[in-house]
Amino acid sequence: MTDIPPDHPRYFSLMTRHRIVSGVDKGITSQEGLIAQGRGEAFDYLTGEKTLPFAHAAEYAASAMMLLGKRRVISVNGNAAALVPAELVQLSKLTDAPLEVNLFYRTEERVVKIIRHLQAHGAGQVLGARPDASIPCLASQRSKVCRDGIYSADVVFVPLEDGDRCEALVRMGIQVIAVDLNPLSRTAQQATISIVDNVVRAVPNMVKMVRDLKGRDERYLQEIVRDFDNKKGLADAMDSISRHLSEIM
Ligand code: ATP
Ligand code: MG
Repeated sequence: MTDIPPDHPRYFSLMTRHRIVSGVDKGITSQEGLIAQGRGEAFDYLTGEKTLPFAHAAEYAASAMMLLGKRRVISVNGNAAALVPAELVQLSKLTDAPLEVNLFYRTEERVVKIIRHLQAHGAGQVLGARPDASIPCLASQRSKVCRDGIYSADVVFVPLEDGDRCEALVRMGIQVIAVDLNPLSRTAQQATISIVDNVVRAVPNMVKMVRDLKGRDERYLQEIVRDFDNKKGLADAMDSISRHLSEIM
């Protein structure tokens, strides 16, 4: 797999697959995570596998929202850890946001492996191994959170979120920034800011944007967030999928 020639037309996509498969081999990504990635890839194909203007705008607003948050947290699952570990650590350091491992298919072993994997990519303390709070009205394992982390956050960045939990977090009054290539998913529909882009592009983009925005005053950041229209972003994403399809047909 690793000897894919760089000029292969699907080089980037194949390398991403390789990263996810190797996440499964290392025990950090669940097998179900492979299917989730496949669903994402299908939508990525439909939008041309690049960061489109609506995604760029969402990433910019999300970066401003992260910097404005008083208690921001980055929630990490097995797919995000396999795909963008170093970038998540960078974003965490730049925004002073702790990383918290939170899994749908939770096993204690997998949580520890993800924490070690993030630490191998430069993370310090990572939350999630000893959850001591729970998200109200959420039956899945994703309800297990840390009181000093997601539970008391005002802004949560979740590269790959589950629709149910996204809704539950929003109900708790938390501003949720989600990355999801499917503009129709419950996650994208529920999040405060929905980034319809591949995490492998969205997170590095946000690292750059946060670096640029870090010195700006609060008013400037608030204007960026205020001017952003999530519903319009989702509608633009749907439009772009239909346009792309009609061009192909
Ligand atoms: P929801 O519960 O929000 O309705 P879902 O059940 O359709 O979502 P899941 O199988 O829970 O989806 O998770 C996969 C979701 O994550 C899909 O919506 C998919 O588009 C998205 N996804 C998967 N891989 C990526 C990726 N690399 N970048 C961005 N989004 C991705
Ligand atoms: Mg789901």
